[in-house]
Amino acid sequence: MILVDTHAHLDFTHFDGDREEIIERARNNGVIYIVNVGSDLESSRNSLELAEEYPFIYAAVGVHPHDADKLDDTVLKELEELAVRQKVLAIGEIGLDYYYDNSPRDIQKEAFQNQLKLAEKTGLPFIIHNREADEDILAILKDNYTGNGGIMHCFGSGLKMAWECLELGLYLAFGGVITFKNAEELRGIVKEIPLERILLETDCPYLTPVPFRGRRNEPGYLRYIAEKIAEIRGLHPEELAEITTANAARAYNLPVEVQYQYQKRGSLK
Ligand SMILES: [Zn+2]
Repeated sequence: MILVDTHAHLDFTHFDGDREEIIERARNNGVIYIVNVGSDLESSRNSLELAEEYPFIYAAVGVHPHDADKLDDTVLKELEELAVRQKVLAIGEIGLDYYYDNSPRDIQKEAFQNQLKLAEKTGLPFIIHNREADEDILAILKDNYTGNGGIMHCFGSGLKMAWECLELGLYLAFGGVITFKNAEELRGIVKEIPLERILLETDCPYLTPVPFRGRRNEPGYLRYIAEKIAEIRGLHPEELAEITTANAARAYNLPVEVQYQYQKRGSLK
């Protein structure tokens, strides 16, 4: 099985004791690329560092809505310097979180807009974190649309929102939640949306799929998510893996040879 983990946080301290083993295990479980996503300036720097150490790891840089109040002009400028580096594929994760409201909403919105502008300026796609903020996410996206594409990370909204995002040309990424008992609505959405817009992600160390729910998550568990989505779609897991790998290559503009190799087989389903 050939997989891309489109959203991981391997720089987090959760992996300090055994990061190398975890990365090795990911490779042994078919993960050919990992996109490590920044959540603040420091983790953006650390993501890039990790990406420069391993050829199959790439980085995204950005400030999470939880830390939106830390995004001043200096931070924005430094993000821009990071974003032009070769191993940086995207701006993220950015967006709005109205569940935790760790930063005031007007500040979250401003940080989101400023980082969408950064995506436009650098020609990179963006990765969106959205929690209970569908309406404002859509309004801001429509006003600031960059044309470089983007990903709705850990998609957890309803079917209507899914179609709105698809209409904007976005990819929807699904992780461990899809394996949870109470995720019937989400499975219904995965069943209905176009296959060529589905991405797989772990969001590790969080949201560990069944049968490891409750433990620390890692990219090596991505196969359980692939298997669940294959089951929902009535496909062989290998086939689902190929299609979503091709999708990830397109979404992130991953190196051309892989994009070509998998796009050929994956894009027609
Ligand atoms: Zn994340």
